[in-house]
Amino acid sequence: MKIICVGRNYADHAKELNNELPTEPVIFIKPKGAILIPHKPLYYPEFTDDLQYECEFVVRICKNGKYIQENYAHSYYDAITLGIDFTARDLQRQQQAKGLPWEIAKSFDCSAAVGDLRPVPADRELNNISFRLDKNGETMQRGNTSDMIFNVGKIIAYASRFFTINIGDLIFTGTPAGVGAVVTNDRLECFLEGDKVLEVNVR
Ligand code: MG
Repeated sequence: MKIICVGRNYADHAKELNNELPTEPVIFIKPKGAILIPHKPLYYPEFTDDLQYECEFVVRICKNGKYIQENYAHSYYDAITLGIDFTARDLQRQQQAKGLPWEIAKSFDCSAAVGDLRPVPADRELNNISFRLDKNGETMQRGNTSDMIFNVGKIIAYASRFFTINIGDLIFTGTPAGVGAVVTNDRLECFLEGDKVLEVNVR
């Protein structure tokens, strides 16, 4: 399995990092090894001094597909949750300045925390789902999927032109504003429609 991630999918977040709004989804991939084992702490990596959280709405793929049409995309996912796209922001800035790929900043071991899965709403509608991230009990990010520049259907249609999507793949759909750094002993909690689905402790 793999994790397909979307960058700059919320206008307020693109703005806070001084990035232009994309005209097509910005896609990158995290490998299977990037998944943080559930309920295990995240050990602060030695290669960064600016590890940041990005709380994101996540869907799980339940069918293999390629060149999926947007209006059929809803039949390709069977569960939703939240994830944290951990990012070594200092490395990402270095790589961006040199015009180089982001993998070392985005796709390293344990860079993808994935919450407990929840069923897809009965109407399959994912365009009005609220979520938030709390750090040490204080809300740092609030998002709603209605604010995504590219919705889940568009992401699946676009990404599947380049990458076959497979059963078990996860799609991280981008983060809203409010990203920030973590330090050792921080506690991150993610809430999907008020329901806590993920907790990560930094060690
Ligand atoms: Mg992200």
